[in-house]
Amino acid sequence: MSARVALVTGASRGIGAAIAKALAADGVHVVAAARSAEALQAVVDALPVASVAVPCDLTQAEAAAHLVDIAVQRFGRIDIVVNNAGATPRGDFLAFDDAAWREGFALKFFGATRLCRVAWPHLVATQGCIVNIAGIGGRTGSAEFTIGGSVNAALLNFTKALADRGVRDGVRVNAVNPSAIATERTQVRIDRLAAERGIEPGAAATELARELRVARFGRPEEIAEVVAFLASDRASYMQGAIVDVDGGQTRTL
Ligand code: NAD
Repeated sequence: MSARVALVTGASRGIGAAIAKALAADGVHVVAAARSAEALQAVVDALPVASVAVPCDLTQAEAAAHLVDIAVQRFGRIDIVVNNAGATPRGDFLAFDDAAWREGFALKFFGATRLCRVAWPHLVATQGCIVNIAGIGGRTGSAEFTIGGSVNAALLNFTKALADRGVRDGVRVNAVNPSAIATERTQVRIDRLAAERGIEPGAAATELARELRVARFGRPEEIAEVVAFLASDRASYMQGAIVDVDGGQTRTL
């Protein structure tokens, strides 16, 4: 995949950082976006191909165009867009006000749809692809994940809709649904459970995995490998696919 260029959002840590590394290992130049400039630069500095860090807040309307401009100025093309940045809260539905719902959609849904819209002409030019990182909560609702589940479900439908357009325009659009992956986000969930139950974090992690009916939590690299595959020509007939990478947690069709 040498000389291709990827935009990866939320690349300063967790799943996004692993995706940046996996794509760069395939020779892809990465234009990495996240809010935290220092952490983002550290990820980019460790990549084996020329890449660039673009600190930005993707909830801001102008951020997507800024990101695309930098990619085109620096590398002259965009082949891959990975919409990974996301931060939706868990909690009691009755405790979420309108602002919490708006914020949940502002980054992960509107941030992704906006970047797709702005990058689309460039992806048409390269016959490129988009990979949206949603989450298994988009398929399976749960009481404490009303915002995140709704955002993910919207992103999955959007993936199918844009893939339909992609058939005409020559752009592949697919989505990956991670489950509980061992990142800071999951650690926060484990720590909250440990505090609620008055147990050690290690024991809480074991209990959470058992309750989710998975053998273990996934690693960010295990998501990144699937994204790198979807972004490669090896997945050239995958269009509108929703791939669960969840250790078997989703048991429905
Ligand atoms: P994380 O919280 O570790 O990292 C989030 C990244 O998004 C960071 O780089 C952060 O800087 C960036 N970000 C946050 N707000 C931003 C903003 N306003 N503008 C730009 N960048 C912003 O997340 P993660 O656990 O690696 O998850 C990555 C994606 O995978 C998210 O969309 C998440 O919903 C999804 N997901 C994660 C899990 C999991 O268990 N970790 C499970 C299902 C789905």
